[in-house]
Amino acid sequence: MLARSRLPALIPSLFVLRPSLAMSSATGTVTIHQPLNYRAGARVHPADGGQAEEVYEPATGRVICKVLSSGEKEVDLAVQSAKAAFKIWSQMSGMERSRVLLEAARIIREQGEEIATMETINNGKSIFEARVDIDISWQCLEYYAGLAGSLAGEHIQLPGGSFGYTRREPLGVCVGIGAWNYPFQIACWKSAPALACGNAMVFKPSPFTPVSVVKLAEIFTEAGVPKGLFNVVQGGAATGQFLCHHPDVAKISFTGSVPTGIKIMEMAAKGIKPVTLELGGKSPLIIFSDCALENAVNGALMANFLTQGEVCCNGTRVFVERKILDAFTKEVVKRTQKIKIGDPLLEDTRMGALINRPHLDRVQGFIKQAKEQGAEVLCGGDLYVPDDPKLKNGYYMRPCVLGNCTDDMTCVKEEIFGPVMSILPFDTEEEVVERANATKFGLAGGVFTRDIQKAHRVVAALKAGMCFINNYNISPVELPFGGYKASGFGRENGRAAIEYYSQLKTVCVEMGDVESVF
Ligand code: NAD
Repeated sequence: MLARSRLPALIPSLFVLRPSLAMSSATGTVTIHQPLNYRAGARVHPADGGQAEEVYEPATGRVICKVLSSGEKEVDLAVQSAKAAFKIWSQMSGMERSRVLLEAARIIREQGEEIATMETINNGKSIFEARVDIDISWQCLEYYAGLAGSLAGEHIQLPGGSFGYTRREPLGVCVGIGAWNYPFQIACWKSAPALACGNAMVFKPSPFTPVSVVKLAEIFTEAGVPKGLFNVVQGGAATGQFLCHHPDVAKISFTGSVPTGIKIMEMAAKGIKPVTLELGGKSPLIIFSDCALENAVNGALMANFLTQGEVCCNGTRVFVERKILDAFTKEVVKRTQKIKIGDPLLEDTRMGALINRPHLDRVQGFIKQAKEQGAEVLCGGDLYVPDDPKLKNGYYMRPCVLGNCTDDMTCVKEEIFGPVMSILPFDTEEEVVERANATKFGLAGGVFTRDIQKAHRVVAALKAGMCFINNYNISPVELPFGGYKASGFGRENGRAAIEYYSQLKTVCVEMGDVESVF
């Protein structure tokens, strides 16, 4: 296969990962190539900065590689390289851009198993889920390739034969800053609409997951984008700040926490740069007693335990109508206890390791506090130590269901970003809608009921950007995704994202003589 035979031709590898464990996935061994900064169509050592940070494999706790952060000079070089490529790319027709994006989608699909394995090793999520992430990633590129050829303005007739028209133009160099929970997918959700609209991009992944996005950069180059159109800089807050303050950056698209989102918005305000903010959440999932119980239980598990619970739109406040509280809780606990935890590269694993030790400790802290505040641990919540000695230093915990919860508890109010579900009983529709909306966040929400009028009435009343009826946490790329309130603004995916990566120019054309009032 092309994907495998191309590997040796790449820049010499420095780190071969867990060969024995990687053998257990369909891919075999995966290699991380160095360096991990990417500029003007090639991997480069950063021109400055250069501080080496260790990157961990969550499943084993071992260092898999080191990444050199980018300083101000490297950030500038990446932006300049994007600017140069923008001149070429923005002049191409939508159809020409579409062909390149389709080719990138094809390569991702072809190399999907290798990319999924890389993602699993660097992020800790199960290979089963990583494959889904990669599928959603190439689908996103295909979707925007499909739109690229039809991006257009409109023609407006004016009196006397005069007319106006609008041109939908790209913004220029866009910055993408990503979180660590969906490293490759976040990069695709940002770059696909950005590139389709004719922009260039400099992307900074989380320092915890710097690996797979460089693969995406190589794929774009192989697919035929002009060199420099998609660049990767590495590092943490300092590198992100250099990007946000750079005068040649036209737009910032950020995925991450609310506190960082506030800082991004402040920096963008200084340069009057448009921003998209995809931030955190504490979303409600409302289970009415007239639901199909098995579907509701499945929905609650999907809403809480994908990617070890490290999902922004998770429905972590599960409101259950009191009439079915016992039946629902019993079934959810039974199913949660059966979730197979362990080596994320094994085919039957459904929950891998959390991203790192400090985050695992933080999640544990939330559970301890929940108990102190009166919640009851119905299952899980403790650390999990796999039998395999290679995994003994990994960051595992058992998925947790909390009962006896009340709305004022910290575990119900704050984003935990781990596998912790809080169950909250309710009695009436009016009451549950009010409680569901009583949060600073507004990313997502869900409802399970067989009553079609009630379903639409309730989602219409929810103050959240992404709502689900009788399902949860599916992400078709055709649907816009984004938050209300403190969960951010702007939209990714769907046609809506085009608005956030382009601008309208209005041209007014006079066909007659100019009449002056002076
Ligand atoms: P984070 O805010 O700590 O970091 C996100 C990114 O911002 C990283 O790349 C980080 O290096 C960078 N960064 C940090 N400080 C910065 C600064 N001052 N200037 C510029 N860049 C800076 O978030 P995280 O821990 O990586 O991710 C978890 C959070 O992301 C959760 O709150 C989760 O809900 C949210 N998230 C939201 C979505 C969404 O689509 N709404 C998706 C995934 C994750």
